[in-house]
Amino acid sequence: MNTAYLLLGGNEGDTTLYLQSAYGLISASCGAIIQYSPVYQTAAWGLQEQPDFLNQVIAIHTTLSPFILLEKIQDIEKELGRQRTIKWGQRTLDIDILLYDDVVIDTPLLTIPHPSTPMRRFTLAPLAAIAPAYVHPVLKKTIQELLDECPDPLPTLRLDINLH
Ligand code: ADP
Ligand code: MG
Repeated sequence: MNTAYLLLGGNEGDTTLYLQSAYGLISASCGAIIQYSPVYQTAAWGLQEQPDFLNQVIAIHTTLSPFILLEKIQDIEKELGRQRTIKWGQRTLDIDILLYDDVVIDTPLLTIPHPSTPMRRFTLAPLAAIAPAYVHPVLKKTIQELLDECPDPLPTLRLDINLH
């Protein structure tokens, strides 16, 4: 059995509803969810007026290989995107594989650990909430250390909601 950490994020439509739908779909097709981080709210970058993002990290136990897991989460993104959005293919929930045991993969299709993890507070904050002592297999630092060193100035707000 392998442990994978997934980042869930969205800022379009009813994100809390998409998060809850994702729990069911992920449990059914990827593996049991063993941990849920709190949900964090982050302002969107950029000039255009955009709704804030909600982000959450979950840990799953899975027997799927990393590449099959990627296929399954992309199927789930599509499934959720079809529910409400007008533009075909537009996503309402982004799902990224942050970590998969101590596996290191560097291909165009799939990079694990997810390369932007050390630069993004909205990723590190929820990840550190459930896996602070997890050692990043490339950087050889704990997630808590990476969060403490993170240069991302964008604040993340930990929400007082429980969706699962
Ligand atoms: P983003 O996550 O940057 O907003 P997408 O979700 O559209 O963008 O992902 C673009 C591509 O990133 C995917 O088609 C996938 O093949 C690739 N990818 C590489 N590494 C990962 C990973 N660790 N998790 C999820 N997708 C990844
Ligand atoms: Mg993605």
